[in-house]
Amino acid sequence: MTYRAPLTDIAHALKVAGLDGLQQTDAFKDVDRDTVMAVLEGAGQLTEGVLAPLNRSGDQEGVRLENGKVRSATGFADAWKQYAQGGWTGLAADPQFGGQGLPKVLAMAAFEMAHAANMSFALCPLLGEGAIHLLSLHGTKRQQDLYLKKLVSGAWTGTMNLTESQAGSDLALVRCKAEAAGANYRITGQKIFITWGDHDMTDNIVHLVLARLPDAPPGVKGISLFLVPKILVGDDGKLGAANAVRPLSIEKKLGIHASPTCVMGYEGAVGEIVGKPGDGLSLMFLMMNSARLNVGMEGVGMAEAATQKALQYARERRQGRSPWSKDQTALIVDLPDVRRMLALMTAKTQAARAICYATAIASDMATHAKSEHAREAAGLREDILVPIAKAWSTDVAVEVASLGVQVHGGAGFIEETGAAQFYRDARITPIYEGTNGIQAMDLAGRKLGLENGKAARDLLIEMRTTKITDKKIAAPLHDAIAACERATDWMLASKGTPDALGAATTYLKLMGDTVGGWMLAKGAQGDEPRAGLARFYAAQVLTGANGLADTVEAGAAGLESAQFLAG
Ligand SMILES: Cc1cc2nc3c(=O)[nH]c(=O)nc-3n(C[C@H](O)[C@H](O)[C@H](O)COP(=O)(O)OP(=O)(O)OC[C@H]3O[C@@H](n4cnc5c(N)ncnc54)[C@H](O)[C@@H]3O)c2cc1C
Repeated sequence: MTYRAPLTDIAHALKVAGLDGLQQTDAFKDVDRDTVMAVLEGAGQLTEGVLAPLNRSGDQEGVRLENGKVRSATGFADAWKQYAQGGWTGLAADPQFGGQGLPKVLAMAAFEMAHAANMSFALCPLLGEGAIHLLSLHGTKRQQDLYLKKLVSGAWTGTMNLTESQAGSDLALVRCKAEAAGANYRITGQKIFITWGDHDMTDNIVHLVLARLPDAPPGVKGISLFLVPKILVGDDGKLGAANAVRPLSIEKKLGIHASPTCVMGYEGAVGEIVGKPGDGLSLMFLMMNSARLNVGMEGVGMAEAATQKALQYARERRQGRSPWSKDQTALIVDLPDVRRMLALMTAKTQAARAICYATAIASDMATHAKSEHAREAAGLREDILVPIAKAWSTDVAVEVASLGVQVHGGAGFIEETGAAQFYRDARITPIYEGTNGIQAMDLAGRKLGLENGKAARDLLIEMRTTKITDKKIAAPLHDAIAACERATDWMLASKGTPDALGAATTYLKLMGDTVGGWMLAKGAQGDEPRAGLARFYAAQVLTGANGLADTVEAGAAGLESAQFLAG
């Protein structure tokens, strides 16, 4: 079996996450249930029928660098054509640039399916979406007319060029140079790890590149953002000569083999500035915030795909005896430990999905809610949820994909079943778009610090005041919320200390576990199968919340010395 788009679960999670609220806005008043279902069904058909069949072949074939050009895996160029023609590249983009003006959350739901069906492929539009977001807000009219519209239509693709060998998490160390040349700039230097940095699916690529002007101050304030096309574009929109940018090599890596990860050489390439000199990093963060949520969606997609595969295997494979089945040799789905794994996979996937959609809806409301007060509140909610959506969902992806291998037993370790590919592909998601350690520091530092913890406290108050009738869910949930409150107070009191930095990842996990449990609880009201899953999650996950809060309060204790590290 290949991937089946889980439309019922997605529609349910959208409701739990607050989709109905969007219809109160002027921008989305026409986005009714029929529209939502039409988008989901369309995405389901494309991802099941076009993208999923290329997932395994793309993994096996990979990509090649030939004569200085990257060749995509067989079938990908045609799949891109279908993806672009279906309007999927511009789902949430502004209609004035050719987009469909739909809520971001629907674009994220479509992305979830694309990631699940073929993560390597979906990385290409993921980067494009970030570029579209950025140029819609900060591009000049010329940049919007010449480049943005092409990105929205999918005629061209976009990339994000931040990383250099000495500048990974710490972008203050970026060294790429930009020198003024008439109305433009010349970009020189090397970028590494650039996703879909080159390919043959479209006739141009729009690179967004961080670089430094000669007189720029050191550190992040000296970084500017440049738009560098692969092929130069005339004022009339016609393609001209090749620009001085090329892929120098492609990385051999653990997973996402069909996504080219390129070392890019900029050899005096012509670029135009986006925004003002020195604005580079803050502009890039705009793109990254959107991409961070989308990487959270990747986590959901990977977890869903791994769960589907494991469930199907467990319903066919027979081993051992089960206390719940009379069969002489039971289906492994009837063995308590295997069912525990499958239930954990299902529950965590659904929780991560609801968290990511709630983040996307907060983002939609932060722009489109009717009152300023509601826009501000939604903005705070988006701020606090983005690092959780990214880090918690991608940690879930790795955990769930690993459990998926485990459910398969030895067959899981063998490539033929496909379970191993999900594990290999998912492993990058906690690393890029800001490692999960960096997300935890963002949550514990900047986001918790907003209005002295208001974003976290407002969320916890809403969670505490949600009426949950099922006592087996409500009691562990309220204990977990109390643990979050205790940990939040401690984190605020410890702000800026090594203790807060040492505790940040555990704090994020505690918050993610609890918000996930709250989402499952909200979605379980009056729905017995979902209530069963929420009870399971409450008993298996939420009961650990107090221990996590204790770990948070241990801060960096024991870490001050590195003497006990091996070697
Ligand atoms: C497949 C792939 C695709 C990628 N795609 C792109 C792309 O399209 N564009 C792009 O620009 N980049 C891309 N990247 C780069 C990616 O974003 C970086 O690898 C990532 O940001 C981490 O940087 P680094 O690898 O230098 O690790 P480092 O920054 O060296 O981190 C090493 C470890 O130290 C930790 N660490 C670092 N700083 C801190 C800190 N201040 N506090 C606590 N812990 C810290 C990290 O969490 C990590 O565990 C890609 C990478 C890969 C592997």
